[in-house]
Amino acid sequence: MEKYANAFMDAFTGTLSWTWDSILFKVPWYTNYFWGLIVISLVVWVLEMIFPWRKKQSFIRKDFWLDGFYMFFNFFIFSIVISGFYNVLGLLFSDLDIHYKSLAIMDISHLEMWLQLLIFFIVLDFVQWYTHVLLHKYEFLWRFHKVHHSVKEMGFAAHLRYHWMENIFYKPLKTFGVMILGGFEPEQAYIVHFIAITIGHLNHANIKITWGPFKYLLNNSVMHLYHHIKVLPEEKSQGINYGISLSIWDYIFRTNYVPDDNGNIELGFPDEKTFPKGFFGQLFTGFKKQ
Ligand SMILES: [Zn+2]
Ligand SMILES: [Zn+2]
Repeated sequence: MEKYANAFMDAFTGTLSWTWDSILFKVPWYTNYFWGLIVISLVVWVLEMIFPWRKKQSFIRKDFWLDGFYMFFNFFIFSIVISGFYNVLGLLFSDLDIHYKSLAIMDISHLEMWLQLLIFFIVLDFVQWYTHVLLHKYEFLWRFHKVHHSVKEMGFAAHLRYHWMENIFYKPLKTFGVMILGGFEPEQAYIVHFIAITIGHLNHANIKITWGPFKYLLNNSVMHLYHHIKVLPEEKSQGINYGISLSIWDYIFRTNYVPDDNGNIELGFPDEKTFPKGFFGQLFTGFKKQ
């Protein structure tokens, strides 16, 4: 028991001090997610100001600061709180002799590093796409995912407005993805994570991006805006455009829907009137039926 308590505290204090060191620039720059997130956010925000898609939308749009807070809450505060639990879970699995390598069906360690990273990116994106489908499919998951869909005016910071339970929902399939690759997560994985953050920010930004013919491969702000549409088309009433970084999964599984690109559609969900508007109201929403 003491072993588990120690594992909990070690991870908790470790993540806390890593975050603090990141704030103080005491970690290698390429692993500094704290300042990395700020730099990416500022760059995309400036791009929103220079190339606004919905011209009438203010630079500091509705719920801008709420979303800004969510970015730090989900990325750092929640990570610190949950780190102890995950470490205990990892220890429990290794005591049960379940390791990252137990499910390995692909050994990619002999490939060139860029190719390893590309495979890692694609596998991780697919498992997240599928998790996102589940968040829409099952009512008990949708109750939490509604937080992300409560955005009424879209901008880059909305990317990280989501209920903290989503971190937990995404974890098993992400871990599964890493296990398939034999526990592959090299130090260079930071490149993949930073690319994913940037694409996610751009998908939510008030900038019209379609990527031209690459739209069948890469998710984009036009496609993702429709993911947030308040009233879904009748023929796709469960959900559309689930893509995270890649759009290809939606085209393969026919969940794609982009009828227009003018950007002026109503966002939200049908029963949003009674949904809590502030952070604390949303913190424990989802655990009971509305
Ligand atoms: Zn969604
Ligand atoms: Zn979104």
